[in-house]
Amino acid sequence: MQQGNKVDSHTVLYGVIGDPIRHSKSPLMMNRAFKETGINGIYTAFHIVPDQLANFIAGVRAMGIRGVNVTIPHKLDVMHHLDHIDDSALAIGAVNTIVNDGGRLTGYNTDGIGYVRSLKEEIEPDLAGKRVVILGAGGAARGIIYGLIQEKVDQIAVANRTAERASKLAGDFSNQADVYAGDWDKIAQLCAGADLVINTTSVGMFPHIEGTPIDASWLREETIASDLIYNPLETRFLREARERGCRAHGGLGMFIYQGAYAFEYWTGTDAPAAAMRSCVLEALRGN
Ligand code: NAP
Repeated sequence: MQQGNKVDSHTVLYGVIGDPIRHSKSPLMMNRAFKETGINGIYTAFHIVPDQLANFIAGVRAMGIRGVNVTIPHKLDVMHHLDHIDDSALAIGAVNTIVNDGGRLTGYNTDGIGYVRSLKEEIEPDLAGKRVVILGAGGAARGIIYGLIQEKVDQIAVANRTAERASKLAGDFSNQADVYAGDWDKIAQLCAGADLVINTTSVGMFPHIEGTPIDASWLREETIASDLIYNPLETRFLREARERGCRAHGGLGMFIYQGAYAFEYWTGTDAPAAAMRSCVLEALRGN
């Protein structure tokens, strides 16, 4: 018998914080996970502005909120308020998941491992030896690079409109693997030599769906095109790559699995990923 979401005196509280936050699909997805697994939890969205972050964290301790997801703009600043940071979150330099063990708060980052799990399950199980081009050098790119290094890819070129950010990002990981900053003006050549091209920029995201970061004719047919954006589900970049014959990988799976890992850290229970996916898909399609 499923008992999740039946709020009573034993219900455990979870949530996501961000500014803005009302667009988030996480509450729908995570409450579906509690319902499916019969765990007595409830997950809600908190609009936390930056100068309320410390108060919110005090509230997490005081109220015994078991788990929190963290999104823009708090992923870096929240680290100062936690008792312990997991190694992966330290290497990435950002936290997107907090686990509260009786008042002791630990920060994790599930974005990169969520991305890699999605890519391996949906498109390509073996990433070892692949040559990767990452377009963009923002917060999401950091987690992706960390996740790909764990998979022993051959090399990662980071190209960004603002070159200094690409150099800084590549420099932060270059002692762990062959990660270097590529020239934004020479993306065509970089893409021609890549097995996997990942768009981590916001170009092509709703409502500006006509945008695309590259010309798909720069890709080889064997190349995997991957986009972190999941609204729209298929960006122009992915559609044009697919029409060229490439395998295309959208951002929905990353969103599902970053949430699935958080759910597993909090509850110790396997996340019902298929149900979580269908719930988010329904919401994105406006059903
Ligand atoms: P961010 O830190 O703000 O970084 C944005 C990146 O996009 C920067 O590299 C920026 O370049 C680049 N960019 C923005 N506009 C551009 C333009 N017109 N031309 C070229 N480059 C442009 O954002 P983020 O948190 O990394 O997120 C990036 C994308 O990933 C967003 O679309 C987000 O929705 C998606 N995302 C998806 C998931 C998921 O679960 N699927 C998770 C996290 C993020 P500059 O440095 O030059 O400004």
